[in-house]
Amino acid sequence: MFGWKKRRRRKLRARPFPEAWCEILRRNVPYFSGLDDEDQRELLGHIQVFLAEKPFEGCGGLEITDEIRVTIAAQACILLLHRETDYYPKLRTILVYPHPYVVRGQRRDEAGFVVEREEVRLGESWTHGAVVLAWDSVKKGAADPGDGQNVVFHEFAHQLDAESGATEGAPVLEHRALYGPWARILGREYARLIEDLEEHRQTFLSTYGAVNPAEFFAVVTEAFFEQPRALRRRHPELYEQLAGFFRQDPASRG
Ligand SMILES: [Zn+2]
Repeated sequence: MFGWKKRRRRKLRARPFPEAWCEILRRNVPYFSGLDDEDQRELLGHIQVFLAEKPFEGCGGLEITDEIRVTIAAQACILLLHRETDYYPKLRTILVYPHPYVVRGQRRDEAGFVVEREEVRLGESWTHGAVVLAWDSVKKGAADPGDGQNVVFHEFAHQLDAESGATEGAPVLEHRALYGPWARILGREYARLIEDLEEHRQTFLSTYGAVNPAEFFAVVTEAFFEQPRALRRRHPELYEQLAGFFRQDPASRG
């Protein structure tokens, strides 16, 4: 990373965080108050950089406000804590719709086939530069930090995944030696989810993760941050892989 970029970001992180933005965090992002002081400080710095670098665009008549920007930025940046980060380098713009919107999308049916059909989207992530989000889904996802569903965590997990050059459930890991265990454990857990779906067994992980390895990574990221203790109990090896990648241990928080 170039020196000037690092210097500019260091300055951005050191900026005083506006009180009005703190108020938005308190109101909209309860996850924030669950973080310890040091993580909160780090997060505020990341939010400053994120908001300075990433443009937001309102769609479907939505007007972008600080509430929208801060609520999305805060959750996107929770995924960056403790890690060496280039702040979602491929992401050029965040498009925000007021409500979920309809597109043609993929699902895996119970016979194990991936089928295409019209579906309501809460968000999506494009490999080339955009995240799309529905504002009311963002708010709903943030309001309950323990239900395992968070569209911002989900879509930004896809952005992290895309940093490796391909979105296939394998983000950039810190050392080459980590790829073997990652592929083995996530591959096995993904196969198990498909099998559970086909056998009509109850699953802890959302079956949307059975669509493909990229969706699996996004779905387990949501579970990792929102239901860490249950994930650690039911899928300890998967939890361990994610804790290594995110350099966080949310199951041991508060
Ligand atoms: Zn997805």
